[in-house]
Amino acid sequence: MDPKVREVIEDLKSYLEYLKGMGIESLPAAIAPANKTSSSSSSESSSSSSTLKDIRQELGDCKRCKLHRTRKSLVFGEGNERAILMFIGEGPGYDEDIQGRPFVGRAGQLLTKIIQSINLQREEVYIANIVKCRPPQNRNPEPDEITACGPFLQRQIQAIQPRIICALGAFAAQSLLQTGEKISALRGRRFDLNGIRVIPTYHPAFLLRNPERKREVWEDMKKIAEWLKELAAPV
Ligand code: URA
Repeated sequence: MDPKVREVIEDLKSYLEYLKGMGIESLPAAIAPANKTSSSSSSESSSSSSTLKDIRQELGDCKRCKLHRTRKSLVFGEGNERAILMFIGEGPGYDEDIQGRPFVGRAGQLLTKIIQSINLQREEVYIANIVKCRPPQNRNPEPDEITACGPFLQRQIQAIQPRIICALGAFAAQSLLQTGEKISALRGRRFDLNGIRVIPTYHPAFLLRNPERKREVWEDMKKIAEWLKELAAPV
């Protein structure tokens, strides 16, 4: 048998075994999209009372998808457990994989500056990614990897209950919003994800290559700052 086919079968087998262990004996015809945070059928994504610590513990030394074979660290996410604002990127890169923390490389340093531009500190927000393990050569995460990791991100969102999510880059925005629209069409717009305001913006790594697009991110951050003010105002 082709080794690649064998690898896919092995991954599928271990994922199905994992689901069985979670008490899931049958699969729906279509996997629930990532934005159905309140109506997913998986027990992983329906447990609304978990803390971030519970979720991290459940992930353990995760081997639910093939990314575990090449990662050095699982990058869970970090920040304020009660953050009003959450940033979601695509997946760990080289530096994040080494350090086990999200957005710590060059793009991460720029993200820190972007956060500070609206008078917030990194520690006040929560930062996570669509997938928690580095895809080899920083390729885009594949559907089976997102399916395996997605329920844990959904549960992190449920635990934190942010009021605003800023989706960083095309991949995060399209995955969260289940759309194929271009990031240039999505950025700066307000979307709703089960009551959470979602605003896509350009990924900091894209800004490093295209610094002339920083102005648009600044516009998006000003919008977030306005929303933060609005949400904090007494009714
Ligand atoms: N890019 C991402 O999307 N996430 C990280 O954590 C780092 C770089």
